[in-house]
Amino acid sequence: MTEEVVIINEVTKKYDNIVALDNVSFVTKKGELFGIIGPDGSGKTTLFRILTTLIKPDSGSAFVLNYNVIKDYRKIRSSIGYVPGRFSLYSDLTVEENLKFFATVFGTTIKENYDLIKDIYIFLEPFKKRRARNLSGGMQQKLALCCALIHRPKLLILDEPTTGIDPVSRNDFWDILKNLEKENITILISTPYMNEAKLCDRIILIQKGNILDINTPAGIISNYKETIYSITTSNLYKLNLLLRERESAKSVQLFGNEIHYIDKNKNIKIEELKSYIINSSPENFSDVKIKKISPDIEDCFIALMK
Ligand code: ADP
Ligand code: MG
Repeated sequence: MTEEVVIINEVTKKYDNIVALDNVSFVTKKGELFGIIGPDGSGKTTLFRILTTLIKPDSGSAFVLNYNVIKDYRKIRSSIGYVPGRFSLYSDLTVEENLKFFATVFGTTIKENYDLIKDIYIFLEPFKKRRARNLSGGMQQKLALCCALIHRPKLLILDEPTTGIDPVSRNDFWDILKNLEKENITILISTPYMNEAKLCDRIILIQKGNILDINTPAGIISNYKETIYSITTSNLYKLNLLLRERESAKSVQLFGNEIHYIDKNKNIKIEELKSYIINSSPENFSDVKIKKISPDIEDCFIALMK
C-alpha cells in the first residue's frame, strides 16, 4: 500500500450556484494529523461528506485508503471512522449502549479494541450508565470519538469536534488525538479555531471552497513577510477607526483586546507610530502600548485572503 491515505484531485462541488469546493487538490500521508482550517461556509463539511462517500463530487476524483469514493464506497465506509459535526450519537442510549451499538454494527466488540479507546474511556467510565443526551458537550465528543474508533479504523475524519465545547475539554480532546497519532491512525480534522491549527502536523487553510495554502503550521508562519505591531489602549474602538484612516496603514485587525497593525512602511519605528497615535488625540490614547509580535496562523490566514 502506498503512503497516501487521502488523495483529492481537482474536486469541485456546487449546490445550485454556490461553489462549495472549487477545484480542490491535496494528499494526506499515513499517520498524519491533518487539519482543515477555515471559517463557516468554507467547504469543510462538503469535503468530508465527499470523503465519507455521503455525496459525490461534480468533477474531479477522490481516493480514500486507495479506494475510489464513487466505485468503492462500501469499502471506504467500513474502513474509516467518522464523527460528523452535529450530534452523532443515539441520545436515548447510555454511554455503554452507544459504544456497544457501534461495535456491533462494525462486527466487532468493545473488548477486542479496548486498548485503543481506554485512554478516552477513562473520562467516560464514571458516566457509563448516563444517557448520551445528558452528557456535557465535551463528554459527548469523547464518546463520539470512542464510537468512531471502536472498529480500529485506519483513517479518522472529525468534522469540527471541538466547536462549541469549553476550552478545557478542547485541550483534553487534542491531547487524545496526539496519542492516537502514535497508533498510526491518520486523522483528518476540521476546525474554525485558528489557534488549533498549530496542533496539526500539516494544515490546509481554506476559504469559500478555495485552498489558500497547504503546509506545516511552522511553514505557513515562516512564509509570512510582514512586520506586525500589536497595539493596545483602553480606547480600542477609537484607535481602530483612527488607524483605518491612516494613509500608510496596510492592515488593521482587531484581535480580542489588541489591534494587529501593519504599516506600508516596513521600517516604521515604534516611537514614530506611538507619537502619531498619541498626538492625534492625547486624551484618548495616552495609555497606548505598542510592540512588535510574530505572526500567528490567523495573521497568515488574513494576509492570504487578500
Ligand atoms: P463549512 O463546513 O466549512 O461551514 P460547508 O461545506 O457546510 O462549509 O458549506 C460550504 C458552502 O456550501 C456554504 O456556502 C454553504 O452555505 C453551502 N452549502 C452546504 N451544504 C449545502 C446544501 N445542502 N445546499 C445548499 N448549499 C449548501
Ligand atoms: Mg461544517
